[in-house]
Amino acid sequence: VTAMLVFSWALLTLTLVLGAKAKELLEVTIDETTGELSVGELLERANRDHHPKAGEPPLVEGDIAVRTDGKNADPCTSRGCLWNKWSDGKVYIPYYIADHYDSRERAVIVRALESFSGFSCIRFRPYQSGDYERLNIESRDGCYSYVGRIGGIQALSLSRLGCVYHGTVQHELLHALGFHHEQTRSDRDNHIQVVWDNILDGKKHNFNKIATLNQGTSYDYNSVMQYHRTAFSKNGLPTMVPIPNSNISFGQATQMSKNDIDRLNRLYKC
Ligand SMILES: [Zn+2]
Repeated sequence: VTAMLVFSWALLTLTLVLGAKAKELLEVTIDETTGELSVGELLERANRDHHPKAGEPPLVEGDIAVRTDGKNADPCTSRGCLWNKWSDGKVYIPYYIADHYDSRERAVIVRALESFSGFSCIRFRPYQSGDYERLNIESRDGCYSYVGRIGGIQALSLSRLGCVYHGTVQHELLHALGFHHEQTRSDRDNHIQVVWDNILDGKKHNFNKIATLNQGTSYDYNSVMQYHRTAFSKNGLPTMVPIPNSNISFGQATQMSKNDIDRLNRLYKC
């Protein structure tokens, strides 16, 4: 009887160990298809061959849409482009998700939208008739968003070909909320050295500095808005090198950092 018990116990243990191993393998496999690349790398990959079709806006900095209607070209460096706060202290932002996404993609997008209510006063909510403004989330050519609220129906593209990941959705939503890329911060020269010689011709403007809404937060190498070391490189060599320590890792975020969250809460006075 003792031998039987020991045998059963061994079998049970073996089953549990194998089960855990299988789960681990599965998670690794999922991770490789979605999370191994940083947000910046995913964006660059998805937008590499971006050629705006009729009706699509031109892009700068890889994934920022520019208005062409001649109206306010304010790059959202003041408060005028923020979303309104309601008397209950929440910022409600209506959204519409195009029906060309499948249920898995839709779930990824909704999860990222809802993540904001876990750490801020931002509340993305489904569009209702009568809303005069909304984010129109659709799969167009590449991943992109306007910076800040532009009024009316505002496109936010998450192409089914490479943009539907938790971190990339958060990144585009942060643009829509008014944020720029970390590497265009006015104080970036204290934190990264831009290697102009390695940048693709015609892409140097992507590294222009902007009077960004830093909200007193420090430069964050792990911001979901920080591009990776070789972004817009013409030769595979770094276009950005951190200073003073050039070896530290940066631009590897796969989701919003604590700093991204703090900055958001300060901007909207959550
Ligand atoms: Zn971006």
